[in-house]
Amino acid sequence: MEKPIEHYWSLKLNNVKEALESNNFQVCLAKDGQEAREIVLNEILPQSGAKSVSFGGSMTVVGTGVYNALKKHPGVEVLDTYDRSISSEDVLEVRRQSLLVDLFICGTNAVTESGILVNLDMIGNRIGGLTFGPKNVVVLAGRNKIVADLEDAMFRIKNFTAPANAMRLDKKTPCVKTGECEECKSPDRICNTWTITEKSFPKGRVKIILINADTGL
Ligand code: SF4
Repeated sequence: MEKPIEHYWSLKLNNVKEALESNNFQVCLAKDGQEAREIVLNEILPQSGAKSVSFGGSMTVVGTGVYNALKKHPGVEVLDTYDRSISSEDVLEVRRQSLLVDLFICGTNAVTESGILVNLDMIGNRIGGLTFGPKNVVVLAGRNKIVADLEDAMFRIKNFTAPANAMRLDKKTPCVKTGECEECKSPDRICNTWTITEKSFPKGRVKIILINADTGL
């Protein structure tokens, strides 16, 4: 067989798609980041009629090119939560405003095989938008985010995602030195609020693109 790994993951992602759909999420499959970007631009964006777009923190939103493409997209107002040319106070204000856009795009820390999203945020704007506010939400999820169950999700997030993100963001937390969660009390602690999204409400509000490639942490 050619490309056995892709074949394995396409079977796995199909099963996860069915589980997510049974939890009222709308789900698309993409073979790679480029296809995920095309689904956002050519299907979800026009179908939603969104005039305003914003983002929760996500390496995948940037890595797939979705962020850059939307910045250049005519007829769409982008509330740019990734703009670091403005003050931190202004970034925070844009993050607040992002909770009222038509289309909010983010990643997820984990997707269980039973079709549940699990996330852990520092500030909370990502899980805020995922949970309530924007009329439509797109979640971009690489195959590396698939885990067996809730326990597996929380273990992965605390023992891999959070320390790796703390390293990426140059945080002054003990996990940056040890590679393990030390349940710190650091002001830089990035682990502050968990969410477990069992279902999309209303049905179809949260649209998930499962990508048959490893993307993000
Ligand atoms: S609680 Fe602190 S030490 Fe643990 S992963 Fe989060 S930032 Fe790192």
